[in-house]
Amino acid sequence: MFRQIVLALPVVALAACSTDPQGTPASQSMAHPMAAPQHDKQAGAAPNHTDAPHWSYDGANGPQHWGSLDAAFSACSDGRNQSPINLTRMIKDELTPIKFAYKPGGTEILHNGHTIQVNYAPGSSITVDGVAFELKQFHFHAPSENTIQGHSYPLEGHFVHADSKGNLAVIAVMYMVEKPLPELDKAWKHMPAIAGETRALPAAVSASALLPAKRGYYRFTGSLTTPPCSEGVRWLVMNTYKEISAAQVDAFTRVMHHPNNRPIQPLNARTVLK
Ligand SMILES: [Zn+2]
Repeated sequence: MFRQIVLALPVVALAACSTDPQGTPASQSMAHPMAAPQHDKQAGAAPNHTDAPHWSYDGANGPQHWGSLDAAFSACSDGRNQSPINLTRMIKDELTPIKFAYKPGGTEILHNGHTIQVNYAPGSSITVDGVAFELKQFHFHAPSENTIQGHSYPLEGHFVHADSKGNLAVIAVMYMVEKPLPELDKAWKHMPAIAGETRALPAAVSASALLPAKRGYYRFTGSLTTPPCSEGVRWLVMNTYKEISAAQVDAFTRVMHHPNNRPIQPLNARTVLK
């Protein structure tokens, strides 16, 4: 059984665009928001089983139905600023460069049934709008969730950050199949094949090495791309891609067994700044 997302608001608000890692003992020991206490309803539940509704990427619990699976998921169907999007209708803006203060900190890797996630040790952050957002975790989607001018990529990385108030900022990176990305292998070598597993990483992975050298970006407001689809997420999509090998993409899709990209959501009133 895949681990489920949880209902507790303080947790879901920080669960980012992927399912949260609740239920993985190792992640609960980490000092990041995903380690927030579990909701009452889950007290006593086995680590990898909760009573939260099951959601998936196809069938009766697939993206078209997320909004009706649970009252807490209503934003998935009612939200007007949902992610992912096709980045289009771009407006030129003087976007302030994102300030990166990253150090190697990817210390554990987990398979939660919806993605492969690397949890990050405290102490790495970005500054956006004059506010520091700490890097909590990064995870992947294949194929990409966001598309850029209609273009889909084989893999997209989401680097999930939270400020001291729990507001989220996600840096999205598109990966193109060109050449191996050695830093990723530090994590990939230990990728759990089974949902619910978490493994420690012997060598801390550098998030910086997984981002493109040029850090220009697109910006828009969106949501988590998984239930509960909470809005108010600052999306920062790198405007240059990073290279990866076909084997590295395959290693991910092999353990996921299915695509893990939510379909594109309507832009509605939003614009994309570039
Ligand atoms: Zn994501």
